[in-house]
Formats: sequence, C-alpha cells, structure tokens
Amino acid sequence: MIRHPKTSEEWGEVRKELTVDGLVGMGSLLSSSLPIRIYPDPILKKISEPIEEFGTDELGLLCEQMHITMFVKHGIGLSAVQLGELKRVITMKIPEQDEAGYDVSRPYNFINPEIRESSGTFEFSEGCLSVPGYYEDRERANFILLRFQTINGDVLIKWFEGLEAFCIQHELDHLDGKLFVDDLSPLKKDRVRKKIKNTLRRDK
Ligand code: ZN
Repeated sequence: MIRHPKTSEEWGEVRKELTVDGLVGMGSLLSSSLPIRIYPDPILKKISEPIEEFGTDELGLLCEQMHITMFVKHGIGLSAVQLGELKRVITMKIPEQDEAGYDVSRPYNFINPEIRESSGTFEFSEGCLSVPGYYEDRERANFILLRFQTINGDVLIKWFEGLEAFCIQHELDHLDGKLFVDDLSPLKKDRVRKKIKNTLRRDK
C-alpha cells in the first residue's frame, strides 16, 4: 500500500511551484476529482490548444484537479482533454516507494510539451483511463528529450527514459486527438467498447 502526503499545504506546492518539484497527495481536496471522458467521446479526437497565460489560478487548479483525478483513478499520467479541457497540459506521477512505504515519486506538470528527440524502443502494456479495462502491448521510444513549461512559464528541457518516456508519449498523443485504440479494426473497436462497458459496470 502506497502512502501519500496528506496536508493541504503539500497540495498547495503544486500550485506554487517554480520548478517541477512539489509534493502531491490526496489531502482534503478529494472532492475536486473530476469525471474522465470515456472513449468514444468525440472530444478525445480534438486537438488541444497551447497555454498562453502562466501563473494563473486557473492553470494551477487544473493541474491540481488532474493530479487528484489521477490519484483517485490510479493513473500514472493524464492529459487535460481527458477532463474535457482542450489545453496542452499533461500531468504524470509514477508511484515509487521508499523503505517505509511512502510514495517518493515526483509529480510533474508538463505545459505545452514537445518531444525534441527520441531513440530506442521500450515495450509496455499500454492502457488509458479513457479506455478503462483495455490493454495492449505496444512499443514506443525508450528515450525522449522533452521541452515543456512549468505552471509559471519557465522553459525546461529534460530527458526521460523507460516508463516515464512511454507515459509522456501516450499523453502527448491525447493532446493531438489520438488514442492508442484508433488503429484497431472496427471489430476490435467494438470489443473495446464492450470491455469498457463491463469495466465501468464492475467498478461502480
Ligand atoms: Zn490515455
């Protein structure tokens, strides 16, 4: 069982951050968790718009709600469009436990992210909170050089590897209106829809 920081002060770090550092937990803001748009919701096919105003409460709140929703739904990454906001914003947090069982993983907010370079291959069973219950083995680049902005508009360029790189590539596809089930045959897509229905019914 992974334990998370719980105070609202810790949550506040996400909004105040100057860098990508900050603590994220469930805190008292559980009620801010928002419903996730589920395939084949047409908004998931739309292209998200870049963020132009930084350091606003609106952007901070969006990132916070995305982290809360990810936490509640046990996701490792989320894009704003999955909450119905067509904005180029991605959050990521891949749990990692220390010896005492605390989650010490780093929460990320990627604003206007762009992949500048990529190399290698990494295979993983790809899933998506908008396609609940469906997974498919897929290869993506193992290393990516990502240019992104923080909540305050600072520009950062950083290499990511393995599962982090995989997750970012998946989320970036969302910003361009792409889903990992888009290339499936109509028959398989039908099965995916049934699988989603069953999963949602089971998790109710
Ligand atoms: Zn997804």
